[in-house]
Amino acid sequence: MKRIIPVCLGAVLCASVALGQRRAQFTPEQMKLIEEAVPKKAVVKPKKPRRLLVTSLCMSGDKIIPGHPSIQPGKYALQQMAKSTGAFEVVLSDDVEMFRPEKLKEFDAICFNNTQGVIIRDPALQDSIYKFITGGGGFVGFHAAVATINQYPKFDVWPWYSEMLGGTESGGHPWMPRDSFFIKVDDPKSPLTAAFKGQGFEIVDEVFQLQEPNLRDRFRVLLSIDMEKSKPSRPPLPIRQKDNDFPLTWIRTEGKGRVFYSGLGHNPHIFWHPVLLEHFLAGIQYALGDLEADATPSSKIR
Ligand SMILES: [Zn+2]
Repeated sequence: MKRIIPVCLGAVLCASVALGQRRAQFTPEQMKLIEEAVPKKAVVKPKKPRRLLVTSLCMSGDKIIPGHPSIQPGKYALQQMAKSTGAFEVVLSDDVEMFRPEKLKEFDAICFNNTQGVIIRDPALQDSIYKFITGGGGFVGFHAAVATINQYPKFDVWPWYSEMLGGTESGGHPWMPRDSFFIKVDDPKSPLTAAFKGQGFEIVDEVFQLQEPNLRDRFRVLLSIDMEKSKPSRPPLPIRQKDNDFPLTWIRTEGKGRVFYSGLGHNPHIFWHPVLLEHFLAGIQYALGDLEADATPSSKIR
């Protein structure tokens, strides 16, 4: 019998939830909800036609796995958002050969849509992505993008990836998909949070806890969990009990490139939440290079 290492709670939980729901169909009703919920116009007019390369590849060791049940809704939401706003064109591909330099030059940003595991092993592909982003490209990550490449038990497969993204999942995320959280808007003046009109909100989703200290030195926090109001099913992991800080969405710069990450996106319904989709569109347009925003790390704002 295959032994499950107890400490691998994060990977086991996330994977088992995803596998357990793999038969869950992406229904016509859900497609309709997404079509109705997506923004109908761009946050800002694109400076030129933009292209977003979206990969949803999930690996467990050398095997491709289905991953999160929100992958299909995420893909469809991005496609519909692109279609209804004209802000960008989406190319869906789980072929890592798309990360070769000659392919990447056709894109303005890359999106890891709930990717999982070590999906990029080839140093040449890693170098290509590094040069693409630091050279002025964009990166968008949803939820399990933070459990991609560097994931329990090997957090050092490609350290730059986690630096670029802003953090790494801790290897044990004790919070569950049914947990409800109150979210606060940390940066209400950012054009990326305009959709919230300065108001916090409640959401049911599974949330990772990052393992790095001093998170606000690393990126500009847009949304975070209001722990005074939230009552998750279990206490935070020790690393986070020190500062009780749980950023959920953020931006940062990497060289000449721009990064937008959303920790929300485990549950499918996140991708038919109209206000979150407006926020995601703003994040994508930031990464594509069309929406200007101050990405000074939160702790360094004067
Ligand atoms: Zn998850």
